[in-house]
Amino acid sequence: MQGKLFGRTAAGGESCEVSVAGACLQAEHEEQTVRFPAESSRLSIGGTNGCMFVLEKDGASGTVSLYLDRPQSRQLLLAAGFAARLAELESAHSAVRARWAGVAVLVVAACLALAFAVNKVADLVLVSAVQQVPLSWESKLGATMMSGVLATATEVSQREVTAAVETVVSRLKGALEPPRDDIAVHVLRDDEVNAFALPGGQIVLNTALVASCERPEELAGVLAHEMQHILLRHSLQSIAEKMKWSILLSLVIGDFDSVQAAILGGAAGLARLGHSRDMEREADRQGLLLLHRANIDPEGMVDFFARLGAANRPESSALLSFASTHPGDEERVSYLQAEIAGLGERTVEPLAIDWETMRRMLKEGSS
Ligand SMILES: [Zn+2]
Repeated sequence: MQGKLFGRTAAGGESCEVSVAGACLQAEHEEQTVRFPAESSRLSIGGTNGCMFVLEKDGASGTVSLYLDRPQSRQLLLAAGFAARLAELESAHSAVRARWAGVAVLVVAACLALAFAVNKVADLVLVSAVQQVPLSWESKLGATMMSGVLATATEVSQREVTAAVETVVSRLKGALEPPRDDIAVHVLRDDEVNAFALPGGQIVLNTALVASCERPEELAGVLAHEMQHILLRHSLQSIAEKMKWSILLSLVIGDFDSVQAAILGGAAGLARLGHSRDMEREADRQGLLLLHRANIDPEGMVDFFARLGAANRPESSALLSFASTHPGDEERVSYLQAEIAGLGERTVEPLAIDWETMRRMLKEGSS
């Protein structure tokens, strides 16, 4: 095995042949031999991976060192009687490495905590900033986003369908306190079971979702929920939340076109990503209160979510975006039922819609 000798001549760093000679490691260079006895030589470990060994001994002409960095070095040292000293050095070395690993974990944890704190502060700023946005701005933003959605979609114009949806919408709007006349529902021809609310009052309902409702009270449940996302300004907040970093970055680099593009692209994000769990619960709870005030059977909302949850199997989930953003799991169904139990007595007035005819018309319209 090759090694390097230092200190024997002024030049130093001479290549030598290293071998075991009894309880010594010996280095041979140009017919001269230097022996490093296990008993009296000093051994140390170096290199980033602890795979370099240095042997030193003091001689008449000063200290001589042998550097060993080949993979076989350890084997040779063991064979030459350095086992005890090696074990000692290696345990000290691994303790140092463990300490550094601990420091690295601490540094990473500190960075994460800092990022988390910055994110939390950004969220708090965002929440209060969103509350300051005037309603008129929010309406303009929603209208702009809606025109983006409509550019690639077909709005349903069949009278039976629009009239049925309008009947549900106007019953709900009549129960809004305070009244809001800027809420508009668009029924789009789309095979994906989905509905979402844009900021400022625009609600998108896909035909597949309308057709999947078995009675008008189920559609009323979905619409009451989506209306609450608008009234509680969830849509504006979720868009701001999802795009905060890209908007910040665009503002920092002065790329205002990207800010505009990001905002307009936010509609797709809302349709796919939905809202936070807390927002969902709040929209459910307030939606049930709205149904209650409108004298609509609130069980329709529970039935819809429960059926959608059961249908949300992996093979069909591609067409069930609403189920992925609004999971109808047992937890949701049970808290909805608990909320309904607390609503108090109220006489339910059926929604006067020929629902089956409307569903048939929807199917015919799609063929
Ligand atoms: Zn929702």
